[in-house]
Amino acid sequence: MPLLEVKDLWVHYGRAEAVKGISMEIPEGSIVALIGSNGAGKTTTLRTISGLKRPTSGEVWYQGKRIDSLPPHEIVRRGIAHVPEGRQLFYSLSVKQNLEMGGFLQGKNEFKKNLDLMLEHFPNLKARIKNQASDLSGGEQQMVAVARALMSNPKILLMDEPSVGLSPILVAEIAKIITQINQLGVTIVLVEQNARMALRLAQTAYVLEVGNITLKGDAKAIAKDDYIIKAYLGG
Ligand code: ATP
Repeated sequence: MPLLEVKDLWVHYGRAEAVKGISMEIPEGSIVALIGSNGAGKTTTLRTISGLKRPTSGEVWYQGKRIDSLPPHEIVRRGIAHVPEGRQLFYSLSVKQNLEMGGFLQGKNEFKKNLDLMLEHFPNLKARIKNQASDLSGGEQQMVAVARALMSNPKILLMDEPSVGLSPILVAEIAKIITQINQLGVTIVLVEQNARMALRLAQTAYVLEVGNITLKGDAKAIAKDDYIIKAYLGG
């Protein structure tokens, strides 16, 4: 049984169809990439899994239970955390306060333990802990967004375009962090317009085009597909 499963999911904004009957299986411990161009429905898919957007029809299953009618905080509590598109930090708050927001479901002791762990994983943030989030560079802000999501001790991390707006060096840094988090046992759903990076990190990939999954399978095989090379890898 996959850890997370999306079955025939349809999502609308008013009458506009954003996601048109997609199905995905996310095995425990894996990195699964969801690639596609602007407006394909990637963000909508992640927001629906997180309970931030309600599907019109279809189902989301997690650990053998249906979760598509649960509120977002309950979905976080069960172990699904979201790193949103564009980071969406609390920019007027400090780094520490941002991390506190990610650990809002925890008691004081667990919070402290997780905070120490995050500062171990993201040593750059240690020196910045009291800084206002708006004072950080784009790369540091992305680290805060990832660390904030990890503060809830998730089993699955949904990452929406973590590489966007970052320099090649920082993209490589984020890629390394994604691999490390996965090695700690966290399953990752990686939404990316940077298909090259996503296909390199993932075992399985889904290609989303105007709300439909047009290709799925082994990420390394998809990276060699002529159509994918032309459409997404600049070939
Ligand atoms: P991007 O990389 O640009 O975020 P995406 O693949 O994540 O693209 P979505 O943001 O999920 O795509 O958008 C899917 C479709 O839904 C698009 O046609 C988009 O215009 C539409 N859409 C997204 N959010 C809204 C909204 N809040 N209201 C109306 N339409 C929306």
